Amino acid sequence: IHSVSRLHRIACIPGDGIGVDITDAAIRVLTTLSSTLGGFEFDFTTFDWSSDNYLSRGYYMPSDGLSQLRAFDAIYFGAVGSPAVPDHISLWSLILPIRKALNQYVNVRPTRMLQGVKSPLGECATEDLDWVIVRENSEGEYSGQGGVSHEDTAHAVATEVSVFTQVGIERIMRFAFETAKGRPRKKLTMVTKSNAQRHGKFPHLIPTEESVLGGFFLVAHGGLGMVLWDKVFYEVAKDYPDVEIDKMLVDAMTVRMVLHPKTLDTIVATNLHADILSDLAAALSGSIGIAPSSNLDPTRANPSMFEPIHGSAPDIAGKGIANPVGAFWSAAEMVRWVGEEKAADGLMKAIENVTARGVKTKDLGGSEDTKGVTDAVCQEIEDLF
Ligand code: ATP
Ligand code: MG
Repeated sequence: IHSVSRLHRIACIPGDGIGVDITDAAIRVLTTLSSTLGGFEFDFTTFDWSSDNYLSRGYYMPSDGLSQLRAFDAIYFGAVGSPAVPDHISLWSLILPIRKALNQYVNVRPTRMLQGVKSPLGECATEDLDWVIVRENSEGEYSGQGGVSHEDTAHAVATEVSVFTQVGIERIMRFAFETAKGRPRKKLTMVTKSNAQRHGKFPHLIPTEESVLGGFFLVAHGGLGMVLWDKVFYEVAKDYPDVEIDKMLVDAMTVRMVLHPKTLDTIVATNLHADILSDLAAALSGSIGIAPSSNLDPTRANPSMFEPIHGSAPDIAGKGIANPVGAFWSAAEMVRWVGEEKAADGLMKAIENVTARGVKTKDLGGSEDTKGVTDAVCQEIEDLF
């Protein structure tokens, strides 16, 4: 009797620059994982939605791209960005529309010290640094609201309006509290800049028919949004008496992350603030090249998307030296999300056994290239199972 193998359909979007190298490496590792462990398989479909595509054809993804993605169990994303295309075009053509259309309103970015990896903070960080950053992924500073007037004149005025909704804040807070509650330290730090972003020109709460979530919601515009963010945080906190909470301003938070890493555990922040803090977190844990991220639709109505936090890194693109660890860790998060817990744990163990042995790329102080690290992780998987 043959047991039926569980099939996971994965859409792969390698994108640009080192996104292509690390996606290839991740597919190799995932294939090794499924064939070694058995019981499940991945069916990969690759989409060439890249900046090259845009330059030759005028678009990143075709007009039915989002509905194509809906057919998959998960999406694996490399990186997007090219020196030949302004960043705001590439970002708003691919990654942001996918996150918004597929309701991926949470971006989870764990950071901890992998074995054999050194922190620029020195040895003291080795045990202390273990965080999960929960990034609001659907609105806030990245709401896409705003405009420019008197363009190309000496009096040009540009606005970029942050939009925070009660619904949008509440759902990210609930996710963050649940995350904190599930971790040993049960601690949640909320980050804003609500002292400064407070007295906008808009009324405190204005009804709108066109909120980013659709429908009729109370929306706080601009600077006032941060005050609403605070308010909802304390409201939701009442449902989680066992979670210890504290509040930080984003500027002071950067200092605390560097000087007192041990005092932090789960961190919740807005779209922009969490993006910046997670680059800092990645650097403190050794390199931007190791940090993973999960863009989740927690309702599971749409596929979630997994990607390393780094970008396309044009300076090292095509050299075969990109660190694939962030890509592998992201792949492990994807494997866990589709329900293969044992495989996810095994992949993390394989990654850490490899870094512990000193098989590392240059950004981590090692001398291996992308292929060397990938070979070692594949070998480790075969040895583990
Ligand atoms: P994006 O706008 O797409 O976020 P970025 O401008 O923030 O991109 P990244 O590509 O994220 O830039 O990375 C900044 C620098 O960090 C790169 O130029 C590269 O030198 C280094 N870097 C990033 N990822 C890796 C990696 N996987 N391995 C080695 N070095 C990396
Ligand atoms: Mg970046």
